[in-house]
Amino acid sequence: MKPAAFAYHRPATLDEAFDLLERYGADGCVLAGGQSLVPALNMRLATPAAVIDINRLPGLDGIRLTLEGLLIGALARQEAVMRSPLVARHAPLIAQAMPHVGHLAIRTRGTFGGSLAHADPAAELPACVVALGAVLRVAGRGGVREIPAADFFRGLFTTALEPGEILTEVVVPAIQPGWRSAFDELARRHGDYALAGLAAHCRLTDSTIEEARLVYTGVGLTPVRAMSAEAALRGRRLDGNAIADAGRALDADLDPPADVHASAALRRHLARVLLTRVLSRSVEG
Ligand SMILES: Cc1cc2nc3c(=O)[nH]c(=O)nc-3n(C[C@H](O)[C@H](O)[C@H](O)COP(=O)(O)OP(=O)(O)OC[C@H]3O[C@@H](n4cnc5c(N)ncnc54)[C@H](O)[C@@H]3O)c2cc1C
Repeated sequence: MKPAAFAYHRPATLDEAFDLLERYGADGCVLAGGQSLVPALNMRLATPAAVIDINRLPGLDGIRLTLEGLLIGALARQEAVMRSPLVARHAPLIAQAMPHVGHLAIRTRGTFGGSLAHADPAAELPACVVALGAVLRVAGRGGVREIPAADFFRGLFTTALEPGEILTEVVVPAIQPGWRSAFDELARRHGDYALAGLAAHCRLTDSTIEEARLVYTGVGLTPVRAMSAEAALRGRRLDGNAIADAGRALDADLDPPADVHASAALRRHLARVLLTRVLSRSVEG
């Protein structure tokens, strides 16, 4: 299929982009990597009057380490994030999740920020930024706002971005001594969206879990934090008994949807399988 006709703009500065977003209002749509938007245009699921291509905005594709943490520009390509030594060293959770995001061709165009702004309920990166306690910076006419990742994802393909705002960068706290991260997911084929996925970020002293952040993808409309399972692990030696207790507690955390891809019962089962796999990997370091 071909998209419905639309005007195409490629602003060179954020101010120009804000002008265009203001001019078109709800009829204007930001284009980043295009890996979700272009299929939606082609299938006429999205029919904006104007597409505002932000790929030429300067300075939004960097990955750098600062005193605030790792700064990942919204326009950093997913493949660049996957191959970044800085990400591997300071945000190993994201490095582990990246190979699960689509395929090489998609990651080569798809952007880090696009994946977050799109807010697909089965995407990997939203769960990672919530587990890591990242902060999303969004810019608009009125200035820059900082939104904790936990407050950014509001519902199905819905975020805290206001009309006229652009996600510009993400501040990811650099991993600290004692913390370990692991990501895994279960999908029908490699590169598909997850039926269920788990981003875990835990602080351990010897083998005792001091703090656990367990965030699932694919089991709700937004990333789902498994608070009961986290509580079941806190202060425990990370062994088979603790993992089994966390698995039982997990039932209270999840209310997964049933759809053409998997029943709710299957998703619950997969979530438990992932808990065991991911926590076992965390203890190995
Ligand atoms: C076959 C296939 C398989 C895929 N598999 C996966 C997968 O397994 N996991 C996964 O996570 N993703 C997957 N994707 C999606 C891919 O990761 C997309 O790249 C991503 O979801 C969107 O990023 P993008 O840069 O392409 O954004 P675009 O497609 O350009 O935009 C997506 C949406 O986000 C908005 N947007 C983008 N950037 C910004 C910004 N900076 N500020 C404000 N709004 C913005 C756009 O307006 C649009 O509404 C897959 C895609 C395809 C085609």
